[in-house]
Amino acid sequence: TQLDLIRNFSIVAHIDHGKSTLADRLIQSTGTVADRDMKAQLLDSMDIERERGITIKANTVRIEYPAKDGKTYVLNLIDTPGHVDFAYEVSRSMRAVEGSLLVVDASQGVEAQTLANVYQALDAGHEIVPVLNKIDLPAAEPDRIRQQIEDVIGLDASDAVLISAKSGLGIPDVLEAIVTRLPAPKGERDAPLKAMLVDSWYDAYLGVVVMIRVMDGVIRKGDRVRMMQTNAVYGIDKLAVLKPQMVDIPELGPGEIGIFTASIKQVRDTRVGDTITHERKGCEKALDGFKPAQPVVFCGLFPVDANEFEALREAIEKLALNDASFSYEMETSAALGFGFRCGFLGLLHLEVVRDRLEREYDIDLITTAPSVVYQIYMKDGTVQELHNPADMPDLTYVDHIEEPRIKATIMVPDDYLGDILKLCQDRRGIQLDLSYAGSRAMVVYDLPLNEVVFDFYDRLKSVTKGYASFDYAITGYREDFLVKMSVLVNDEPVDALSMMVHRDRADMRGRAMVEKLKELIPRHMFKIPIQAAIGGRVIARETLSAMRKDVTAKCYGGDATRKRKLLDKQKAGKKKMRQFGKVEIPQQAFINALKMD
Ligand code: GDP
Ligand code: MG
Repeated sequence: TQLDLIRNFSIVAHIDHGKSTLADRLIQSTGTVADRDMKAQLLDSMDIERERGITIKANTVRIEYPAKDGKTYVLNLIDTPGHVDFAYEVSRSMRAVEGSLLVVDASQGVEAQTLANVYQALDAGHEIVPVLNKIDLPAAEPDRIRQQIEDVIGLDASDAVLISAKSGLGIPDVLEAIVTRLPAPKGERDAPLKAMLVDSWYDAYLGVVVMIRVMDGVIRKGDRVRMMQTNAVYGIDKLAVLKPQMVDIPELGPGEIGIFTASIKQVRDTRVGDTITHERKGCEKALDGFKPAQPVVFCGLFPVDANEFEALREAIEKLALNDASFSYEMETSAALGFGFRCGFLGLLHLEVVRDRLEREYDIDLITTAPSVVYQIYMKDGTVQELHNPADMPDLTYVDHIEEPRIKATIMVPDDYLGDILKLCQDRRGIQLDLSYAGSRAMVVYDLPLNEVVFDFYDRLKSVTKGYASFDYAITGYREDFLVKMSVLVNDEPVDALSMMVHRDRADMRGRAMVEKLKELIPRHMFKIPIQAAIGGRVIARETLSAMRKDVTAKCYGGDATRKRKLLDKQKAGKKKMRQFGKVEIPQQAFINALKMD
């Protein structure tokens, strides 16, 4: 395709502002997908995405649009994830396109992720077309939101396109704006091949599928190409565009976006952001800005039933085929037996993976306390990365510990500002900025990531009745007074519950933890001490008193079926319990003990 007839763009928006609905309308109104094949949220392919209404992997679609100027344009839409955990996926798909539609809900206005995403688009050098969505709602205030976009983002919104993605109102104006207001891509057809690896995934029939954006040169079926990061060479088996189903194409030139397959064994062999060139007469210099995605949150995943370990291993290997940002290695825990230590891009990513393992592979899991990655500076001058509090080295050899910090941006209606400031303060936050946009406040905090990973987002939502929005970026590591807190149940340490905490907050966390556990662990025939300790020193203690008599005793001489029912019920309950020495701890206790309220 001729360069001046191509437009590549993404849609940036805060979650729920209507990005997926707009994508659906663009696909439908151009006849890209026949009406009878149309289903809502077409680009959100995974079931979990549909259920939760969020987009996880970036997706793409090629749309042919006959414009008012009489020419037919090729529009490539890359749909990007809207959640903080996937910021890296957003940033690299941004670099594959020249422009963005900035979708803002006209009844809600600019939110934290609107800002985060639009700044990424501006960083990538995008031309931006503001689109005000949901103008069908009685609460829509397009004039006020237009002004807000100018005040808060500093973007001219006088030509914002007003639409209702739901009803289809204004969709033709969006298509014209894409063609007339976004720039065509640039590139040299005669130069050596230079293409960016935007995404890759595992397809059950095709194996690894690689999505690329061609910058210079031409790629054809049968070509031998080199990945410049890994230096691996592959022969192109299949070349296609996504409409959104695959349609074979003989070549892709500058400015074009498509996919190829090349007998690549696993997704891990492809590095997002890598440069692809020809094996011979390749380009000299790779595209810059390549950085591998780094897991920031780790936790242990163990099968509730130890016999399911092999099934868990298989499931994890299968999942990893399709998700190169998720890491795992085998782990053994004194209390939990065999399992895996897994790394994730963030908490949502963790939840999604755990959900898929439980649902798609039907494995009951125990998830241990999520932990961030600490840098342990040893007295001998070496530095260790700590992914698991259970591996904390003896303190006598430790010089100091550093933890990751984030810059969090929170937008919230005035009325809730006090609650937010308190929440951030309680989590060891340092206020960096506070400003206003109309009746909404924008606060920026420097916070330790470890105070955010458990339940910060849930708390934020609940104290503001869902009105706050939140976004964060990791800024670096800083030293603090951190200690490992262990938990002992019936004098046995339960390593899966040990965690790193700030010394000043340890007593409070320890007390909360033992109180919670006292509620969560069922009574046994004997007394059970529950303790939190730092090193050998107990900082909190509760005692779970013994059960007085057999629960079935009262049925003696009575109804036999009732007694059997009671026993069956206990057995079923047992499936979700784990044995620690003489004590049984329910699976739910592991997650719930960590939540603070
Ligand atoms: P995304 O998270 O940005 O992808 O948002 P979705 O496209 O999933 O939309 C979020 C919700 O807003 C869904 O319930 C949509 O049906 C609804 N929605 C999207 N566009 C409109 C619109 O123009 N008007 C109204 N009233 N609702 C809309
Ligand atoms: Mg969506």
